[in-house]
Amino acid sequence: MTQRIAVVGGGIAGLTLAALLDPSRFEVTIHEAQPERAVAGSALGLWGAARRVLRRIGALPETSFRPTAGALHRLDGRRLVSLHGPGPVLVDRPTLLAQLSSAVPSSVRRLTEEVTHPATLDADLIVGADGVRSRVRGLVEPSAAERVATSYVALRGIRCGTPGSGEVGEYWGGGRLCGIAPMPGDRTYWFTTHRSTLTEPFEVAQVLDEAREQFTSAAPVVRRLLDEAGPDTLATALWVAPRLASYARGRFVVIGDAAHAMLPNLGRGACSAIVDAATLADTVNSGGDLRRWQARRVPATQLARVGSAALMRTALATP
Ligand SMILES: Cc1cc2nc3c(=O)[nH]c(=O)nc-3n(C[C@H](O)[C@H](O)[C@H](O)COP(=O)(O)OP(=O)(O)OC[C@H]3O[C@@H](n4cnc5c(N)ncnc54)[C@H](O)[C@@H]3O)c2cc1C
Repeated sequence: MTQRIAVVGGGIAGLTLAALLDPSRFEVTIHEAQPERAVAGSALGLWGAARRVLRRIGALPETSFRPTAGALHRLDGRRLVSLHGPGPVLVDRPTLLAQLSSAVPSSVRRLTEEVTHPATLDADLIVGADGVRSRVRGLVEPSAAERVATSYVALRGIRCGTPGSGEVGEYWGGGRLCGIAPMPGDRTYWFTTHRSTLTEPFEVAQVLDEAREQFTSAAPVVRRLLDEAGPDTLATALWVAPRLASYARGRFVVIGDAAHAMLPNLGRGACSAIVDAATLADTVNSGGDLRRWQARRVPATQLARVGSAALMRTALATP
């Protein structure tokens, strides 16, 4: 008998999973509350394992770009260490989501709806790919249902023009950090993080004003980016998932941010979501055991979660 799989959330994790599940064996439905969110967003750095999955399903954006050199600086611009060699490849997030969406077979049903009670879904397997606010996580581990607040806010933007080679890299110190990278099409991707007293929903202008105040001692290139940032800047409060010891229970499974939302410092959140989805699809397609799947994915992704937090602390504690 054909099994029914309900995927709650059609973001990076949910779309990758739906693209890879065997349509001849499974009836797959994606429930996505806000499909219009897919066109919003800036850039993402993708590491090798995630790129290999995307290549396999023909969803790696061709316009991806890999900066090969940069430096770690103190916030004021003094160079701490040069960074050489291939880092992550930068891709446009809306392009990535569009390509993932095109890779989903036409047999997959797509419903635009918010799932409020995942336990009532009529499916043999219910996959929570529903991000850090996951409703499915509580069905896997009731004590980990709620997301965890941090005091950090991230700003992200893309502006015209390529950064100078001496400007590329990260700027750390005194509770703030900034990253600057070249993007394809003669553009610059930048992000900042600082401790904020503001609460969601944010007015971008207010967050920018707060950041400009907090970055007054930063390198000129950082201050210029913030001064020139406009209303298209993305302001995001950073939330993380609580620690989870398992990602599957009964007919419920969580992947991506639902399982292990982490601070963005290692650039591993979306990468881990893509690898979770691909390995889960391979396991389910081959009739494998979900316990064996999670025995591999839980340690790898919880380590990234802890490592990202440690890197954030180091970056912000740099004098
Ligand atoms: C500032 C910043 C920079 C980052 N940079 C990087 C980077 O460079 N590299 C990297 O790998 N990662 C990065 N990340 C992390 C990355 O963005 C996330 O890990 C990734 O988006 C997680 O994808 P997801 O599909 O698991 O969750 P989401 O992207 O959160 O998708 C979840 C989807 O589920 C839907 N949904 C939620 N609840 C329901 C419901 N009840 N019913 C129906 N639909 C629902 C939502 O609308 C959404 O579309 C960064 C994150 C931040 C904040």
